[in-house]
Amino acid sequence: MGEIRSLYYGMDELRKKILKVSYLSGACHIGSSLSCVEILQAIKGKNPFIFSKASGVCTWYCMNYSEEKCIELMKKHPLPSKEGGLIWSGGSLGMGLSVACGIALTGQKTYILLSDGEMQEGQTWEAAMFGATHKLPVVAIIDRNKCQALGMTEDIVKLDPLEDKLRAFGWNTQVVDGHNIDELKEAIKGRTPLIVIAKTIKGRGVDFLEKMGYKNHYYNLSESDYKIAINSLTSK
Ligand SMILES: [Mg+2]
Repeated sequence: MGEIRSLYYGMDELRKKILKVSYLSGACHIGSSLSCVEILQAIKGKNPFIFSKASGVCTWYCMNYSEEKCIELMKKHPLPSKEGGLIWSGGSLGMGLSVACGIALTGQKTYILLSDGEMQEGQTWEAAMFGATHKLPVVAIIDRNKCQALGMTEDIVKLDPLEDKLRAFGWNTQVVDGHNIDELKEAIKGRTPLIVIAKTIKGRGVDFLEKMGYKNHYYNLSESDYKIAINSLTSK
């Protein structure tokens, strides 16, 4: 896969809300949340949807609930609940594609968001074999920011050439700019079983978070960070 340097596409109001909720709740995973803003916009309203990349759940909450509710929800792990609008907790990483394939076996077109870190889990590849064997109606999007909690994916357990591997497993694949909603919306219309590799930047939209790379995974925003982050968005 060649490198794509995304243009900045905005979504500033949602990003501001994510920053505020993260700061006020004291929750981390701000980089993961900013990474998947456009992906979640592109698959908004698709159902059933498995939010396997649970570290980005702040974005999901901010799209669906008030600030106060989001702050309350961010104080605990994302559990399956009507309250949080999630049918799968995603707390145990690497299991989501199996769940998506299970639902798709009933014939329902099923959408899922995976982190690239989850592609290092053996169970994900078992599900990939199963989904391809049975040609299941699964649309999986991988948030390919090349970062995981404690390092770069390619340094910890190499994933590339990821698209070639997934094709070899029998999936249709597309590689898109994961910060371009139009590209994402077009890509998810493709033939199933489908995996869309969405190339993203962890911490997208906030300069100092983008520069931190994977180190923003467990980073809690201080008051001054929060102010700098908001200015970073408004200066674009
Ligand atoms: Mg990642």
